[in-house]
Amino acid sequence: MNMELPRGVQDILPEDIPYWQLVENTARKLFESYNYEEIRTPIFEYTELFRKGTGETTDIVMKEMYTFTDKKGRSLTLRPEGTPGVIRAFLTNKIYNQKPVWKVYYIGPMFRYERPQAGRYRQFHQLGIEVLGRKDPYIDFEVIKLAVDLLKNLKLENLEVEINSLGCIKCRPNYREALISYFRKYEDQLSPIDKERLERNPLRLLDSKDEKLIALKDQAPQPIDYLCDECKIHFEKVQKYLSLDNIKYKLNPKLVRGLDYYTRTVFEITTTTLGSQNAVVGGGRYDNLVETYGGPSIPGLGFALGIERLIILLKQQNHISLPYIPLIFITLSEDYVETGIKLANILRTKYRVDIGSPQENLRTQLKWADKLGSFIVIFLTEEIEKNKLKIKNFKTGEEKYTDLNFNTILEDIETML
Ligand code: AMP
Repeated sequence: MNMELPRGVQDILPEDIPYWQLVENTARKLFESYNYEEIRTPIFEYTELFRKGTGETTDIVMKEMYTFTDKKGRSLTLRPEGTPGVIRAFLTNKIYNQKPVWKVYYIGPMFRYERPQAGRYRQFHQLGIEVLGRKDPYIDFEVIKLAVDLLKNLKLENLEVEINSLGCIKCRPNYREALISYFRKYEDQLSPIDKERLERNPLRLLDSKDEKLIALKDQAPQPIDYLCDECKIHFEKVQKYLSLDNIKYKLNPKLVRGLDYYTRTVFEITTTTLGSQNAVVGGGRYDNLVETYGGPSIPGLGFALGIERLIILLKQQNHISLPYIPLIFITLSEDYVETGIKLANILRTKYRVDIGSPQENLRTQLKWADKLGSFIVIFLTEEIEKNKLKIKNFKTGEEKYTDLNFNTILEDIETML
């Protein structure tokens, strides 16, 4: 039997959970203060959903999906990203008939068959938001601000916000033409996959990972030079609001993002301390995605943040304080089981409490307490008969006999910590 972990996946062990909880709780609190509600969509969906939304010519759909056939021959895929499922839920549940604007956030695992390395996994977790039903530039600003504020609330440094605009269905065709005629000149240098992309979706050439394309990409026409007036004004407003709120950003005309559905604003937050996997957040506007899925014409936008990468950064920067609640160990003896249970009930209102086994002797129980990392030990021994309880702090050596009075025990322990 193979007990190895499949490549690219990992256990999240209890020692790391405080980081996960910190990130999730900070995100929940922030998003809810901006009136976003949580949504939980399925881990797998019909493959078609990602083909159509994420895009046929993207790396994700061409190479990275975990796709399988179920017992009835239907093609299903483990979600490689969160947005398509959220849009599907919006349509399936006809939310557009109920709410003028839908603001949601999600937290959960995603799956991509990528080459694993530090900061890149096959199962990873994203935390993201989506807004459906607003086309104004204020909301582009709000979405970028939420990503920035989340990282700020987690006290992360060395981050850079990059933004760009990809234009809309009106101005995109002109840009597409310009890209095609530019890359046609170098067609013989393109890999078969990139040749196919040139025909079907030339924008994807700009995030191709092919080495030979790097120099070519540098000289390629940029979407920002082809924006129509409306897209220009929209993008200027987004930048104005960012500046008003003192959010530093860099205009990166080469930023295109790896998913097909983006229109107008796209953005990424990168860090200088993660090596090659330096993107922490990616997002943007997708004004035609709902329609692509056969729904009404409703604009949308959002971002996704990689939790694993964020936690690597939190550990590197190492100045957050994780909550620590001391562990109190109660040794148990068969004669005083009832007292032990009642005492633990009270202490658990404030502390983590673990109880030894009445079948083990005191020495063994003390060894356990030490191994479990508990330094406050409460002894349930014959002193109980005299209404006394021994408490010892093994770090300081301090010992105390307190009255067996459930009202004052909490206070007595407090003084010993
Ligand atoms: P994307 O959905 O590709 O725009 O990615 C958004 C964010 O998810 C990235 O900035 C990363 O932080 C994270 N991410 C994407 N792919 C992976 C992966 N394979 N492993 C870990 N994190 C990832």
